[in-house]
Amino acid sequence: MFDYLIVGAGFAGAVLAERLASQADKKILIIDKRNHIGGNTFDFYNEAGILIHKYGPHIFHTNSEDIFNYLGKFTSWRPYEHRVLASVDGMLVPIPINLNTINTLYGLNLTSEEVESFFASKAVKKEQILTSEDVVLNKVGKDLYEKFFKGYTKKQWDLDPSELDASVTARIPTRNNRDNRYFTDKYQAMPMHGYTRMFEKLLDHPNIKVMVNTDYKEIADFIPFKEMIYTGPIDYFFDYCYGKLPYRSIEFIFDTKNEENHQPTGTVNYPNDQPYTRVTEFKYLTGQQHRQTTIVYEHPKAEGDPYYPVPRPENSILYSRYKDLADKLTKVHFTGRLATYKYYNMDQVVAQSLKLFKKLMTLSAPENRIDEQKIALH
Ligand SMILES: Cc1cc2nc3c(=O)[nH]c(=O)nc-3n(C[C@H](O)[C@H](O)[C@H](O)COP(=O)(O)OP(=O)(O)OC[C@H]3O[C@@H](n4cnc5c(N)ncnc54)[C@H](O)[C@@H]3O)c2cc1C
Repeated sequence: MFDYLIVGAGFAGAVLAERLASQADKKILIIDKRNHIGGNTFDFYNEAGILIHKYGPHIFHTNSEDIFNYLGKFTSWRPYEHRVLASVDGMLVPIPINLNTINTLYGLNLTSEEVESFFASKAVKKEQILTSEDVVLNKVGKDLYEKFFKGYTKKQWDLDPSELDASVTARIPTRNNRDNRYFTDKYQAMPMHGYTRMFEKLLDHPNIKVMVNTDYKEIADFIPFKEMIYTGPIDYFFDYCYGKLPYRSIEFIFDTKNEENHQPTGTVNYPNDQPYTRVTEFKYLTGQQHRQTTIVYEHPKAEGDPYYPVPRPENSILYSRYKDLADKLTKVHFTGRLATYKYYNMDQVVAQSLKLFKKLMTLSAPENRIDEQKIALH
């Protein structure tokens, strides 16, 4: 009998499997309906021998030393700071918008103080910030909104920014300095030998059995287990009884080029002129040396693998109805981005799983409890 059946071998499931097996001696069966572990971070060497990310570029960044050190037990890290350029008006300029972006785009030579006044003079002040459009207009005004956000958002979500929650663009900063990095987190790094290798190590424990190519509904009635940890889509778990939660998907189109490098930085965004949103060249992320290079184009679409929950009020309401059902189940625990219908970065998912691990330890019978010392990450 397994102590836990864990559905989904992405970060959410794998971290729990590792903690429960290594710290609490639990017997785990972790399954995934895909033919591999690693969830959306799965990477592999393509036919040309270039390490690529099957489900789009994944860059690890976090401010949490604990999470960085915890994952560091399963990989060594390669320092990497991601830089993104946006193709606007025939130029490639840094995004998030900063002093360099404004000076290049408008042929100016502003200082940090002056660029603040520049933004203020362009801003279209809004009394209430309700939508993504309000956020951007209120911060930088119409021209920058149209050059960088309107078209990109429309492609990404098939919605006008005025129809999207303020939260979508609220987290995109505008900088008055020359910091061209995409992220500013304290820890920014890539797993030295890739994500899949890191997952192999996470799951390498005698108490953990791994089964791929298996939807949990195919086996849940035949394999005995005490409790379930579910990281798949919450609406699927409840057979879509209230209807489907909407997601945005992406078609990834890979192209291997007979050149050492194709573009000047890891990712180039195309807010306006192209059908795709961005192009990423993996060798910048992985540091791999190779005479060829592989890039990926991202074409957002409605149908397909669920990637981005669509942040609209009616979807939050629908999710909370499913959550009410989930909260009634004491032997099934929901975690991860699909089971909680939230866009989370990898470090946030790891944090969520570590929190659930602590909760499970507190809930379990006294004889199964482990002391705080062991719960600690080290
Ligand atoms: C295009 C894209 C780019 C991203 N880039 C970054 C980035 O640069 N940095 C960052 O920090 N985060 C990034 N993220 C977010 C990152 O992918 C997630 O934080 C992370 O993968 C979430 O892990 P998870 O385990 O919750 O979900 P997943 O990785 O999706 O794992 C869930 C697993 O459950 C399996 N599953 C689902 N249903 C079933 C079922 N019925 N039976 C069996 N198995 C099932 C799925 O096959 C899947 O493998 C990106 C996301 C996307 C979509």
